[in-house]
Amino acid sequence: MGRIHPEIYFFGAGVAEGRSSMRNLLGGKGANLAEMASLKLPVPPGFTISTQVCNYYDSHNHKYPKGLAEGVAKSVARVEKALGRKFGDSKNPLLVSVRSGARVSMPGMMDTVLNLGLTDETVKALEQISGNPRFAWDSYRRFCQMFGDVVLKLKPDNKNDPDPFEEIIDHKKQSRGVGQDTDLNVDDLQELVGEFRALIRSKVGRDIPQDPNEQLWMAIGAVFESWQNDRAIAYRRINNIPGDWGTAVTVQSMVFGNLGNDCATGVAFTRDPGTGEKGIYGEFLPNAQGEDVVAGIRTGRQISLKAGRKWAERAGIGEAERAASYSTLEESFPAVYKQFLKIAAQLEKHFRDTQDMEFTIERNQLFMLQTRTGKRTAQAAVRIAVEMADEKLIDRKTALKRVEPEQLEQFLHPSLDPASKKHVIARGLPASPGAVNGEVVFSADEAVAVSAAGRKVILVRLETSPEDIHGMQAAEGILTARGGMTSHAAVVARGMGKCCVAGCSALDINYTAGTLSANGTVVRRGEYITLDGSAGEVIEGRVPTVDAVMPPFFKKFLSWADAERKLGVRANADTPHDVKVARDFGAEGIGLCRTEHMFFDPERISAVREMIMAENARQRARALAKILPMQREDFIAILKEMEGLPVTIRLLDPPLHEFLPHEDAEIRDLAAKIGTTPDHLKQVRQSLFEVNPMLGHRGSRLGISFPEIYKAQARAIIEAACELRKRGVKAMPEIMLPLIGERKEFDILAVEIREVAAEVFKEKGIKVPFTVGTMIEVPRACITAGEIGAVAEFFSFGTNDLTQMTYGISRDDSGKFLGDYVRREIYKKDPFQELDPVGVGGLMEIAIERGRKANKKLKIGICGEHGGDPASVKLCHRLGLDYVSCSPYRIPVARLAAAQAAIEATQKKAAFKDV
Ligand code: PEP
Ligand code: MG
Repeated sequence: MGRIHPEIYFFGAGVAEGRSSMRNLLGGKGANLAEMASLKLPVPPGFTISTQVCNYYDSHNHKYPKGLAEGVAKSVARVEKALGRKFGDSKNPLLVSVRSGARVSMPGMMDTVLNLGLTDETVKALEQISGNPRFAWDSYRRFCQMFGDVVLKLKPDNKNDPDPFEEIIDHKKQSRGVGQDTDLNVDDLQELVGEFRALIRSKVGRDIPQDPNEQLWMAIGAVFESWQNDRAIAYRRINNIPGDWGTAVTVQSMVFGNLGNDCATGVAFTRDPGTGEKGIYGEFLPNAQGEDVVAGIRTGRQISLKAGRKWAERAGIGEAERAASYSTLEESFPAVYKQFLKIAAQLEKHFRDTQDMEFTIERNQLFMLQTRTGKRTAQAAVRIAVEMADEKLIDRKTALKRVEPEQLEQFLHPSLDPASKKHVIARGLPASPGAVNGEVVFSADEAVAVSAAGRKVILVRLETSPEDIHGMQAAEGILTARGGMTSHAAVVARGMGKCCVAGCSALDINYTAGTLSANGTVVRRGEYITLDGSAGEVIEGRVPTVDAVMPPFFKKFLSWADAERKLGVRANADTPHDVKVARDFGAEGIGLCRTEHMFFDPERISAVREMIMAENARQRARALAKILPMQREDFIAILKEMEGLPVTIRLLDPPLHEFLPHEDAEIRDLAAKIGTTPDHLKQVRQSLFEVNPMLGHRGSRLGISFPEIYKAQARAIIEAACELRKRGVKAMPEIMLPLIGERKEFDILAVEIREVAAEVFKEKGIKVPFTVGTMIEVPRACITAGEIGAVAEFFSFGTNDLTQMTYGISRDDSGKFLGDYVRREIYKKDPFQELDPVGVGGLMEIAIERGRKANKKLKIGICGEHGGDPASVKLCHRLGLDYVSCSPYRIPVARLAAAQAAIEATQKKAAFKDV
C-alpha cells in the first residue's frame, strides 16, 4: 500500500514509512517509532502527522492542509485493519494515544492524551475484553481527566492550584475512607466519570464527545496548540529551540500495562545516565500505565536482579522483603526480560548511542513504545563516548563530537570535602552528581528572586514539573521528596548539569510553614542545606566542597581531543595557585597574567597608592622600588609553575584612580600612612577623575605618561626569569602591552623594555629569551595591524575591550539593555559572551591578515573572555589563531571545542570533495 497523505507517516504492522533520519518532520518520537518498526520490533501500529502541519495550523488560523482529514481517516482505518479493532466499536474498540513530539526532546512540556476512543459504549466493551471492569472504568476515568485537563484546558495555570479532577478524586477517597486511588472500586470509578463530566459541562458548557473521531480531532488540535503553551515557550527560550520547528502528532494504538499482574510498564536506559556504566538501567511498575512510572507516585522496581539487590541494600530493605514486595523484571517476567535485553542491545547497536526506552508488557507480551537518545550527565557523556569508541561502536572523532564542550565544566563540579563533618538529615536518590549548598526555597519563583539577589538557593519541592523550569535553572541544586531516577526532577537536573537528590521520602515538606523536616531536624526557608547529588544525601548547614578529580576516561577523552585540535590552549591566571590548576587542566601556557590583580593585595596596596600619589618621577621610583621585589616574587612563582611553557604577562592596564580609596575613613588612614592630608589625597583623586575611564588614561597610555611604572614591571619580570634560569628552571616570559592603538606607542615602550632587559642581563651576567608583543583590543590596532605587526612579536586579541569599542557599548553598563536586545533578537547573542563573528570577527580577520603579512612569525592568540566559549573558540579556529586563552576551569571546554572545530573543518572539506 502506498502513502496515504504526504504529511502522514504510518508505522507498525509491517509498515515503516518514516526513518529516524526524519526527526525534523516526524519529531524524535515519531521518527524513532518508524525506525523501530523498520527493524521489525514489536511496536503498536500508528501514524505520525508531520511538524509541517503544526506550522500550517499555527499560521492558518487553526486550519489543516488539504486532504489531511481524509488522510487521518484512512490511516485510522489502516490501524483498525491491522489490529482487527474499530474506533467506537461496541465489541472490539480501538483505543489510541495522541502524543506530541518535537525534533528534540522537551520532557513534559507538551501534552498527551491516552485511552482516546473510550465512550459510554466502548467502555463496556473494554470491560468484556479485559474481563476486568475496574480496569475499564479506571481507563475511562483517566481519559476523562486527561481530555478535560489537556483538550478542554481545565488544568490550572499555576501548578500550586489544585487540579479540579484531583480534588474530586481526593473527595471521593475521603468519603470512602480509603487512602489510595487503587482502593477505589468500580462503583466509585463510575461515579467519578459522572462527576468529571458534570464538572466539564459546568466549566466549558459541553460534554466529552461520544464520537471517537471528534475526540481524535480535538486532541490533535490540542497537541498542536500545546506547542505554543507558556511552558513550551519558556523551555524553548532556555534551550535555544526555534519556534518554527513545531511538534509532530503521533496517534498510536494503545497497549495496556494495567490489565493485571501479567502486565507492566517501564523505562530503561542501555547505560547508566548518571555514571555512564554499561548495562540496563531503569525502573518498571507491574500493573500500571506509563504515566505512573514518570510521575513517581509508586516506587519503581528495578529491571535486573543485580540492580534490584543494590537498590534494596541502599534503601535498607532485606532480601526476603525485596523478593516478596519489590521483585525485579528479571524475576517477574523472565522471558520478557530476555527479549527486552536483546532489543535494547539491538537498538543501541543500531543507533550507536545510549538509548532511553519506554516499554509496556500486555499479558506477558512486550511492546516498545519509544526509544530516544538517552540524556546523560557530563560524567556519563564522556565515559559513554570513550567506552563506545573503545568498543568500536563509534570512531574517536564521533566520540569527541558526542560531548557538548560546555558539559565538561559540569564535570569539574566540586564534591564534599571529605575532611569536614556532616550531619545527614535524609537520604534520597543520587539523581544528578555534584555537591552544592544554598538557602532553602520552596517555589520556583522564590528561587528566581533569591538567586537574582545574588544568593545561592536549593529548590525544595515535593516533586517538580515543567512549570518549575525557571526555578530549577536559577537554583544550585534540586531536592524532591517524591519521584525516581527517571522523574522530571532527575531528568531535567541531569540535563542542566545541576546537582539533584530526588525521591527523598523521609522529607516532610510544608510549603505554608516554609519548613522541611526529616528525622527530627527542621530546616526553615532561608536556612542552609547541602546536597550531595552523587550519594543522594541531604545535609544540614553549609558543608565545604572540594574541586573535582579527573577520572582516567576523562583524561583519555581529552587526549583524543588534543590529538585533533590545531589551536593551542592557554589560561588566563594571575596567581601561582590558579596557574597550577590551569596546568593540571592541560594549559599549554599562560595567555594573560593581569599584573594589576597583584596590586590589590593588602600588603601592597599602600605602596601602590604611594606610587600614584607621587608628585614626581623620583618619588614614583621610590614607591615602585617597594613594589618591585614583591612583583618579582610573584613572577618567580608563576614562571616556575609554568616551567617550559610561555607566560604572557601584561603590564599595568586599569586607570590609576581604581587603586585609590573611596571611603572617608580609608582616605584618612592612607593620608596618615603616606604623610599627606586627606584633602590633598582627595584632590589627587579628583584630578584622576574621568568621565569615561574605559577610554581614558589607562593601558599603554600609563606607560607613556609614567615610564617608571612599566620599566619597574619589566625589570621584575626579567629579574624573575634570570633568577629561575640560574636555578635551572626554563622561564619563558612574554611581555604584553595593553591597549595599543598606534605603532609609535609600541615602539617607545618596547625600546624601554628592551633597555631594561639589557641592563638586567648585564647586572646578572645571564641572558634569557623573552618577547614583547601587544594586545589587539582597539579597533584602530586591527586596521593598522600591518604597521604594529612589523614590530610586535605577538598579538593577543583582547576581545572584551574590542567588543566594547566595536559596538560602542560599555562592558560595565550594558546590562540595562543588552538582555532586551538579545530577547528581541536585535543581537543574536550577548556579544560579550559569544564573539560576534561579523563585526568583531571581521576586524580580527583584517588584523590577522595584515599582521601576518608584515611578520610571518607573528604569534596570534586571544585572551578575552571569549577564549573559553565554545562557539567563539570555533571561530578562532576558523580565523587561524595560534591559541586561545581562558579561565582555568574552562580549559577542558576549550580543548574539546578546538578539537570539534578541527573535526568539523576536515569533515566539511571532505563533504565538499564528495560533491
Ligand atoms: C580584553 O579586553 O579582552 C582583556 C583581556 O583585557 P581586560 O579584560 O583586562 O580589559
Ligand atoms: Mg582589555
